[in-house]
Amino acid sequence: MKINYSLALVLFLSVLFSCEKNTCTDDCNLITNVLEIDSAKLNRKVLVIGLDGVRSDAMQQNSSPFLHSLSVANEVYYTASHGVELITYSGPNWSSILTGVHYAKHQVDDNSFANPNYCAYPTFFEYIEGVDSTINTASIVNWTPINTHILSSVTDFAPQAAINDLEVYEQAQSLLINAAPLDADLVFLHFDELDAAGHSYGFSLEVPEYAATLNALDGYVENLYHTIEAKRLTGEDWLFMVVSDHGGDGTGHGDASNPYINQTIFFAQHPSLDFKSQHNSNQTDLAPTIIDFLGISSSVFDCKTDGISLLEE
Ligand SMILES: [Zn+2]
Ligand SMILES: [Zn+2]
Repeated sequence: MKINYSLALVLFLSVLFSCEKNTCTDDCNLITNVLEIDSAKLNRKVLVIGLDGVRSDAMQQNSSPFLHSLSVANEVYYTASHGVELITYSGPNWSSILTGVHYAKHQVDDNSFANPNYCAYPTFFEYIEGVDSTINTASIVNWTPINTHILSSVTDFAPQAAINDLEVYEQAQSLLINAAPLDADLVFLHFDELDAAGHSYGFSLEVPEYAATLNALDGYVENLYHTIEAKRLTGEDWLFMVVSDHGGDGTGHGDASNPYINQTIFFAQHPSLDFKSQHNSNQTDLAPTIIDFLGISSSVFDCKTDGISLLEE
């Protein structure tokens, strides 16, 4: 009797598992994955700084002097017309940034994360952990759904407690400078207070609260950049990225036809690598660029992604 029950349970679980597995695949899983790893690049490191709600035209010399200077520097890919998803909420855009596919594939079309398909379209964190689980990955966010729904299950350090932007910055510096709580190789940060200022007061440099918040973020980004520069001097090979999820107009960002909303800023900086300067980037280009930078080539990922690597061959 007991054995029969166990058998039934095993059968039930295997049926359940195989159903679950079906939702994890798309046509790209039908091809044999050709995985090539350049071990000389696998110890490279990446910092992605996410700034929620940056309206491109707000990034000016007086409002955000560091980001402005970075935008005109050599050794940087920069655009103020980075393409966002056709649904201009935060959830779809951070999902596209992290997975390298548009929302039609990852199926996050609002901020409820009701039915995401990260199973068929994993984040770059999951691909990279799958190649080498000794790579230390971390995500520190103000907007906690990113860790709760997307990253906590696949990264080594992804706290889910609510923290403000200053705490994101302080935890990031502790991570990068003191290797606490771990010596991170791949780091994602998310700052949310600019978007909050936009919703409360307006997404515009004319709005003092929005301008002041952008100025504070600019200081955090500058200090984090100097931290990365110091780590580069010790021989670590870092790719530095800054991206936003959408812009804003008035006190919202729901109108996907509005250019103040449907394009935003994106930076990729490295001291010696060249970027595809003629390509107009969008949210799906970050994941393939990061995977390429780490020397990973996966035919299944290449089949699934909607983006391209911005690194020149
Ligand atoms: Zn947002
Ligand atoms: Zn918002």
